[in-house]
Amino acid sequence: MAQARVRRVALIGTGIMGEPIGGHILDAGYSLTVHNRTKDKAEGLLSRGAVWAETPAQAAADADVVLTMVGYPTDVEDVYLGADGILSAARKGAYLIDLTTSSPQLARELHDAAEVMDLHAFDCPVTGGEEGAIAGTLTLIVGADERYVEPVLGVLESFSSKIFYFGHAGAGQSAKLCNQVSLASCMVGWADALALARQSGIDEDLMLDMVSGGMGGSVALTRLAPRAAAGDFKPGFLAEHLRKDLGLALAEAEELEVTLPGAETSFMLYDTLCQVGGSRMGTQALELLYEDEGTSTAAGLDWSVLPSAEDEGHDHHDHHHHHHH
Ligand code: NAP
Repeated sequence: MAQARVRRVALIGTGIMGEPIGGHILDAGYSLTVHNRTKDKAEGLLSRGAVWAETPAQAAADADVVLTMVGYPTDVEDVYLGADGILSAARKGAYLIDLTTSSPQLARELHDAAEVMDLHAFDCPVTGGEEGAIAGTLTLIVGADERYVEPVLGVLESFSSKIFYFGHAGAGQSAKLCNQVSLASCMVGWADALALARQSGIDEDLMLDMVSGGMGGSVALTRLAPRAAAGDFKPGFLAEHLRKDLGLALAEAEELEVTLPGAETSFMLYDTLCQVGGSRMGTQALELLYEDEGTSTAAGLDWSVLPSAEDEGHDHHDHHHHHHH
């Protein structure tokens, strides 16, 4: 009964996703130590019995399982490899599980670095959104096989309802990037449809209702288009994080010599949204790019930070301008 050994869990990153995940781990009866860059965001879990750690190393020091749910690959590098990082302190035999959507290459490096230290590290990005995290019904996308993960299944099942095993380190992240590429084109799809409906003068909500039940629908449309249509841009999933994911997907595509026109288009749109002040809005704020300037300014965007069309006209010989890396 290897599973019975797992009692102490550490969680680094208690943001939109990490906080509810930590709540399910507490509910399942594990002892939980937490660390987050901004301590305030851990208060909810601390008030429910989690213990604060000043650094990732301190959080990991006596944990059987260390979960990370931070923002960017650079954050993952910091919390694993930094001077006060997880690898400097984790106990032999511990499981290090990265839930962040991050780089496949980094996941392979962390796995290899951990193995030589007698630690078991694997990538485990998630899908299901803030709703799925709160409900404890996330889908887990594992960069390992079933046998490798079996000792920590109890922890993983406390906040998930489906687990897909992609077999080896980094493969979970590669699969997650496929999901993000598909998601991003769904987002552009419904945002295009909303813009066309508005201009046609037809009932937008009725159109969304009709589309959502058929081949033109998507979970993204069902959950997010009505929020955008109602002017609610509060983040469940941050626009800057989808921009990050598309950047990772395009970098991987370039490496593998495959062209992804949908990802290129959606990257450009999310990059623009982030540049004009939408990075901390939800991904549904994509819809604001289709609105007139008055409406998008009222919602919090600032187009004056971009060079105007006239300025661009002056340097139209500079083709490097449009590259995305
Ligand atoms: P978030 O609210 O920004 O949470 C990230 C948390 O990590 C923040 O609280 C942040 O601290 C903390 N953090 C970042 N770097 C750190 C470091 N070096 N040391 C300690 N703490 C650090 O974002 P989220 O929505 O939870 O997303 C987390 C990850 O999951 C992202 O990679 C995202 O792409 C992915 N994801 C999100 C969703 C979703 O729907 N939200 C769904 C699936 C996957 P601060 O409080 O200081 O910022």
